Amino acid sequence: MDKKMVYFYGGGVAEGSAKMKNLLGGKGANLAEMARMGLPVPPGFTITTEVCDYYWKHDRSFPETLEADVEAALKRLEEVSGKKFGDKDNPLLVSVRSGAAVSMPGMMDTILNLGLNDETVEALAKNTNNPRFAYDAYRRFIQMFGDVALGIPHHDFEEALNQVKEEKGVKLDIELEADDFKKVIELYKEIYKKAGKEFPQDPKKQLWIAIEAVFGSWMNERAIKYRAINGIKEGELLGTAVNVVMMVFGNMGDDSGTGVCFTRDPNTGENIKYGEYLPNAQGEDVVAGIRTPYPLEKLNEILPDVYKQLTEIMDKLEHHYKDMQDIEFTVEKGKLYFLQTRTGKRTAKAAVKIAVDLVKEGLIDKATAVMRVTPDQIDKLLHPAFDTEEVKKAQEIGEGLPASPGAATGKVVFSADEAEEFAKEGTPVILVRPETSPEDVGGMNAAEGILTATGGMTSHAAVVARGMGKPAIVGAEEIVIDEEAKEFTARGVTVKDGDWISIDGTTGKVYLGKIKTIKPQGLEGEVAELLEFADEIRVLGVRANADIPRDAKVARNFGAEGIGLCRTEHMFFEGDRIQKMRRMIVSKTVEQREAALEELLPLQKDDFKGLFEAMEGFPVTIRLLDPPLHEFLPNDEEQMKELAPQLGITVEELKEIVENLHEFNPMMGHRGVRLAITYPEVAVMQTKAIILAAIEMVKEGKKVKPEIMIPLVGTVKELKYLDKIVRETADKLIEEAGVDLEYKVGTMIEVPRGAITADEIAEVAQFFSFGTNDLTQMTLGFSRDDYGKFINDYIEKGIYESDPFKHVDQTGVGRMVKIAKDYGRSVNPELKLGVCGEHGGDPESIEFFHKTQLDYVSCSPYRVPIARLAAAQAAVKFKRGKFVNYAD
Ligand code: PEP
Ligand code: MG
Repeated sequence: MDKKMVYFYGGGVAEGSAKMKNLLGGKGANLAEMARMGLPVPPGFTITTEVCDYYWKHDRSFPETLEADVEAALKRLEEVSGKKFGDKDNPLLVSVRSGAAVSMPGMMDTILNLGLNDETVEALAKNTNNPRFAYDAYRRFIQMFGDVALGIPHHDFEEALNQVKEEKGVKLDIELEADDFKKVIELYKEIYKKAGKEFPQDPKKQLWIAIEAVFGSWMNERAIKYRAINGIKEGELLGTAVNVVMMVFGNMGDDSGTGVCFTRDPNTGENIKYGEYLPNAQGEDVVAGIRTPYPLEKLNEILPDVYKQLTEIMDKLEHHYKDMQDIEFTVEKGKLYFLQTRTGKRTAKAAVKIAVDLVKEGLIDKATAVMRVTPDQIDKLLHPAFDTEEVKKAQEIGEGLPASPGAATGKVVFSADEAEEFAKEGTPVILVRPETSPEDVGGMNAAEGILTATGGMTSHAAVVARGMGKPAIVGAEEIVIDEEAKEFTARGVTVKDGDWISIDGTTGKVYLGKIKTIKPQGLEGEVAELLEFADEIRVLGVRANADIPRDAKVARNFGAEGIGLCRTEHMFFEGDRIQKMRRMIVSKTVEQREAALEELLPLQKDDFKGLFEAMEGFPVTIRLLDPPLHEFLPNDEEQMKELAPQLGITVEELKEIVENLHEFNPMMGHRGVRLAITYPEVAVMQTKAIILAAIEMVKEGKKVKPEIMIPLVGTVKELKYLDKIVRETADKLIEEAGVDLEYKVGTMIEVPRGAITADEIAEVAQFFSFGTNDLTQMTLGFSRDDYGKFINDYIEKGIYESDPFKHVDQTGVGRMVKIAKDYGRSVNPELKLGVCGEHGGDPESIEFFHKTQLDYVSCSPYRVPIARLAAAQAAVKFKRGKFVNYAD
């Protein structure tokens, strides 16, 4: 290897810097940076991650010249420290620590006090005038070295230590004296022998074994698992660096100690110094939890000068790194040393506050602030969460797809009606269903949360729950529901009607019993400020999928700039409208149908007006009826018996209608634009309702931007047919009213044929909205209601990287979107393009849509804040043209 392999720092110089994280690991890069800044860090050197990479690629061997390079660095370390490795009078002791570019706490190996042997321990005892300390350090080293570097079981050493304590009749380590530790050391050496190993007395040997152990630990089981869990892909990081650092001791008496501090409160984000200090101790004592540390301020009482220096440097570090720092320090005989600094982990609340405060303090710009908070963190702040302590103790009884975030606890009910009854009495319930249907929306609304055994991320339950902002888990296949017996079984536990369960829609986990939930903080204060920064930066517009005025208001309050999708069918389930709808469906003649529609018209008109009002002049895209008609009719005998007389037909007639509507493949059946081809009068009624509502708005002097959207178009001829009907109906009403009203007619792109003939379609459509739920379903040929059964096999086997209904499949469905965009804009450069499938609220997909040059995304109201942030982050990462504000 002809690259530089060892980077030295100390004595006021540093070869590395904070920019070299990939090469030196986070720890090594920051130690070098602190040395550059002239801060008190113990001197040392870092062996690069490239050496780790070499080691694993060359059959666990090192590059030839590494030894010489380490020797040279060691020599410099001796010079700077004034100590000598293995010296009988003034020995240099070092720690050997791992440190990758990404922090992997506790996953890899660390060895302290290296350099001690039978001779140097005596020097340490003499120089510190503290034999107890020296022999304790020696026995700790022998133990750690045996355990970490040579794989001798940890508990063998613990047993030996206990044996000495027992012989002496004491319980704690601190009650042991130097001579006791000498005994421990003898026993430890025996343990080595029994294990067929030898404790190396030569410090150089110790060092090389330790270096190799640290590089080796990169591939230990727990480190591999940690990387997998944290989404660090194989080969993404080169490996770990090895830091060899001069030891400093916090356990040299009362003027020594060790601590951890944060430059701001990591829980609240408040600008206060926060941390812990333990006098006369080493870091591992704090970790082991044997002694309880004091709050940081205690240091001010014990060593005020050190405290002053510490807090000054904390400020300096925060200013230098322009972010909250998590710092480890040690005080050795009144002298302060910084052992580590890194970006501090923080709660979601603190992340937002710190980002906004740092902008106000002039330390970072708005774009940087926006990148400092993840969409997940915003999501967490907007939904209830479980009390972290309680959830740890709770019994997990199942897991499904995390369909709608937030935590909910309640009594189990198995029907929507029951949910509504309980909720009326004020009892919180969780609605458990095999799957949900539009008829269940009342019960879903009444429930605290929804759990279904089947269905995927775009199933009815998932879409509706997200719209309502209700926690939901879908496709929890482990849950076996017996509706008759009113119970379900999961992981051997039977849960009955009325029993308490808790569900976490953020993680997909189901728990037995009640768990305390913590209220969300809402869109106020710093969260609102951060999202305003996001709005200034983003290029993509953000709209909401909302079907009723209440949801639209929620969406507007969350910052939605219009409605990208109103699924009008959801309006037909409110109150007694379903009866009117059913009457329309069972009509035998056009006249009958038109009469039934006539009754629905004023109701729809009022709904649309409510949406227009809630959106305050922003565009509102209303989609004509989409689902197959059978969804509006009951399919069990009892309900049919009840319904038939109300509809003025016999049970047999109703049965026949239901049977006729039955389809083998309803998602590819008589739905979307196809309904309007068969029953144009439905489209006429809906157009009238939209336009009449808009005319009222205009007459009241209010701004309105209606957009009429035709679903499931696969050929331009379908669209032409509908476009004509819609325009004739609308223009006639506008003319009659004598008002000035503009509207648009556009289409959804959700059938692959529609996407690949987008140039033809764009001749007619004024806008496209990508219905990526159906587009995914039809491009992949995966039923959106059934794919949950097998998708995990696909993901596990690496065939699809993730759930394609959650994160858009960029290679396939994404290509469809790009093709449609290019074809569409080739005909009409002004063509407005949006997304209203569930991907419109998914940060990863939003980044893709930004790059694909779409104009806006539309998502459920509760995802609007996330989408605003994600769109801004995409804009920071990938620069694009200007944001068009469609309300103007
Ligand atoms: C879609 O298919 O992406 C869409 C938004 O329509 P729906 O989910 O109602 O089918
Ligand atoms: Mg669709």
